Amino acid sequence: MKKILFQFDTDTHPASFDTIVAYDGGADHVVGHAGLTPANVGPLVDGTIFTRPPKEKQNTAIFVGGSDLLAGQALLEAVQKKFFANFRVSVMLDSNGSNTTAAAGVARIVASSEVTGKKAVVLAGTGPVGQRAAVLLAREGARVVLTSRSLGRAERACKAMKARFGVEITPLEAVDHAARARAIADAQIVFAAGAAGVALLAEEHWRDHPGLEVLLDANATPPLGIEGVDMMARGAQYHGKTCWGAIGFGALKLAVHRACIARLFERNDQIFDAEEIYAVARELIKTG
Ligand code: NAP
Repeated sequence: MKKILFQFDTDTHPASFDTIVAYDGGADHVVGHAGLTPANVGPLVDGTIFTRPPKEKQNTAIFVGGSDLLAGQALLEAVQKKFFANFRVSVMLDSNGSNTTAAAGVARIVASSEVTGKKAVVLAGTGPVGQRAAVLLAREGARVVLTSRSLGRAERACKAMKARFGVEITPLEAVDHAARARAIADAQIVFAAGAAGVALLAEEHWRDHPGLEVLLDANATPPLGIEGVDMMARGAQYHGKTCWGAIGFGALKLAVHRACIARLFERNDQIFDAEEIYAVARELIKTG
């Protein structure tokens, strides 16, 4: 029986990135739907759960994506509300690559350095990747600060992640390079999660930092987020700090994304959100 993945996107078009990785992860057929909301997703979910017999239901799965993480979270909840008894299929949430990118990045950081009790700053953390990175670092025992150019946006992101995961993340306004340099002054870990092509720190802001242990930059579009961290860096030592560039840890992100797609089709009752996707990232690192 064909493995069919329904790509439920909250944006106006289903993301081509997610469609390609869905095929690469093992789906035989990917069906994209755009503009989905909790109000209109119901009949599409019904179609996935009422069509195949119990032993074949695992061949249907749902992927929730789009650029808005909170809209994705709400859509995932709405999808799950339609499930009952064994009338369910496995679902993965990865709005804008939030979970897979954060999971791969944090798994690389945790494998590079002790995180528990350390201060971690997620720069420009109000986007999907930054919010999930902050959550995963907090769940690893780090004291996490999330910056934004607007205190209000940072507060809303921290509140949303507390509501979903129960983690405490400290919001901080940091409007420019100088403010972001001050934000990392007593940190050991920096996760730069700014928008593509946005520079967040110059090399002078971190080069001589005495306590900084690990820097990771998610942005692969020049100018990079952290000047002086090559996008290909794979745990490279620069100025005595362990550095990960966007492509350097991006290979793991793609491997995690594909592996989660493949696992969706193993059973019909799984949810892949931040916790489960992070577990896959840790597992893939261990198994090489
Ligand atoms: P996003 O939502 O596009 O942007 C994240 C944050 O960047 C925004 O919320 C905004 O925060 C801040 N920002 C935007 N313009 C800025 C500016 N001019 N100056 C300072 N801050 C600015 O990002 P995302 O979707 O979470 O993705 C984060 C990064 O990961 C992106 O660079 C993306 O390309 C990259 N990515 C990498 C991989 C990988 O495998 N390496 C995979 C997926 C995504 P405020 O407005 O609150 O300040």
